[in-house]
Amino acid sequence: MRDFSQDHRWLSINTATLRKSRGADVPLPQILDLCAARGVRAISPWRDQVQAAGLSTVSKLVRSHGLELSGYCRGGMFPAADAAGLKAAHDDNRRAVDEARELDAACLVLVVGGLPGALAGKAAHKDIALARSQVQDGIARLLDYARTVKMPLAIEPLHPMYAADRACVNTMEQALDLCDALDPQRTGALGVAVDIYHVWWDPKLQQQIARAGRDRLLAFHVCDWLTPTRDLLNDRGMMGDGVIDIPRIRGWVEAQGFAGYSEVEIFSTQDWWQREATETLDTCIQRHKTVV
Ligand code: ZN
Repeated sequence: MRDFSQDHRWLSINTATLRKSRGADVPLPQILDLCAARGVRAISPWRDQVQAAGLSTVSKLVRSHGLELSGYCRGGMFPAADAAGLKAAHDDNRRAVDEARELDAACLVLVVGGLPGALAGKAAHKDIALARSQVQDGIARLLDYARTVKMPLAIEPLHPMYAADRACVNTMEQALDLCDALDPQRTGALGVAVDIYHVWWDPKLQQQIARAGRDRLLAFHVCDWLTPTRDLLNDRGMMGDGVIDIPRIRGWVEAQGFAGYSEVEIFSTQDWWQREATETLDTCIQRHKTVV
C-alpha cells in the first residue's frame, strides 16, 4: 500500500468539497487557484460549476495550473417516464462525455438515476426493475459513443438510501454485473467509481473489489460516515471523523493494482461548507496524510 504520510501527491479534490466557503458560493476558478497554490495535483469538478465558469475558461485554467482530472462529475440519470425523456438523457450524457474529453478527465462518473420524477418529489411509477433496465440500456448506448472518443465511464454505486431518487445501482456487485454484461472483454471503457461513503457497509465489498480488478477500478472517493447523520445528502464527514476504516478499504483497492488518486468528496451544509474553504482544504490535506 502506498505511503500517504509524507506528501499529498495522490490527493484529488472533488470540487463540491470547496463549493461553499462560510456558506457562500466559491466559483470554480477560485477553487482551482486554491488547490494549485497548495500543490494539489488533481481535481474532479462538477458540471454545474464548469458551466457557471465556462468550459473553455476551466479547460485553460486546468492546463495552466497543470492539474489532472481524477474524474468528471457527472453523467447518468438515465431512467425516464417516456421516450422523449430517455432521448434527452442520452443527449445530455453525450455532452457530458464531450466535456470530460475537453477537460481530459480520467473518467466520466455515472450516477445512474432512480425512479423518474422521484428527485423532483413525485415518482412517475414504482417499477424499480424497469428503472434498472433503462439504466442498463442507457449505459450501453452511451458506451458506444464514449468508446469513440476514448472516455471511460465509471458507474458509481450509491448507498441504498438513494435508490428511489438518485441511483438504483446500489452495490459494487450490481455495478460489476453491468460491467460484465456491457463490456465482457474488460476493455477498460467501463468500470466503477468506488466511493467509500456509499459502499463501506457492504459485506461483499472486499470480494467485489477483487472481482473488479485493476482494469475496472477507475476512481476512489473518500469522506467519512458520521454518527448520527443529520442529512441524507449533505452531511458527509471529513476523513477520520466517522466510522469508516478508510485505510483498510484503500488497501483492498491498491491490492488490485489501483494506483490513482484518492479523491475527497464532502458535501456538508452544516459543517465544512460553513467554514473558510482554505480551512477545509488544509484539513483535507492533513487528513489525507494521517487517516486515509
Ligand atoms: Zn463519489
